[in-house]
Amino acid sequence: MGIGGAVILLILSLIFGRNFFSGGGGGGSTSVQQPQEAGAQAPPANESPEEKQQVQFASFVLDDAQATWDRILAEQTGTRYHHARMVLFRDATQAACGFAESASGPFYCPADERVYLDLGFFDELRSRFQAPGDFAAAYVIAHEIGHHVQNVMGIEPRVREAMERDPSRRNEYSVRLELQADCLAGVWGHSTDQRKILESGEVEEGLNAAAAVGDDRIQRMSGRRVNPESWTHGSSKDRAAWFRRGFESGRIADCDTFNR
Ligand SMILES: [Zn+2]
Repeated sequence: MGIGGAVILLILSLIFGRNFFSGGGGGGSTSVQQPQEAGAQAPPANESPEEKQQVQFASFVLDDAQATWDRILAEQTGTRYHHARMVLFRDATQAACGFAESASGPFYCPADERVYLDLGFFDELRSRFQAPGDFAAAYVIAHEIGHHVQNVMGIEPRVREAMERDPSRRNEYSVRLELQADCLAGVWGHSTDQRKILESGEVEEGLNAAAAVGDDRIQRMSGRRVNPESWTHGSSKDRAAWFRRGFESGRIADCDTFNR
């Protein structure tokens, strides 16, 4: 079977907690539980009141999303979740994945299992992407935590391997990874909806944010021609659709972007 087939089987194995290669086995009993660290690591000193609020909000979303994954990852896949950490920074900081700066946008670094979030991104969401609202910012954090879930589930490292074996499919794999992270953000959104911590209209804010950061929109805004071959995250339409899918079902198994 080709790499595509192997990746699909792998994803199925991970999503259903079963090993489809050998036909047996259980899900991740070997995952290491790391000590939980509450809240996020704040940027140093002279914080404005607005930034203080952003830090508190980001910490709340991080803790809520991770408490949700503690529960549902075990319930739905049998895999034990362990917590990612979040680094909030201004301007620039050093990550195990390299140098992080405001221009790079929020990202997850699998090597140190940290989410890097530049506080200026909240403002950028509001002004540049015209995606205002708390849930839009929450969606961005939940998307990055979605990448951590992919890492915990072993999806991320296997897809990276597949990318190295077949560089011509790099972008395609990247888009599938990103859309899955959107869907996983939606799965968390489903949980917040069930617990009634969302206000009406907030889901639309999340969908709006997913659409705002689609590659086609970003390319158009930067004056470049829309070129699907260079997409690494997926179109606005696809991103919103996968977020909605996870949001409506609340099931990790429905986030199999590698099998469609
Ligand atoms: Zn992403």
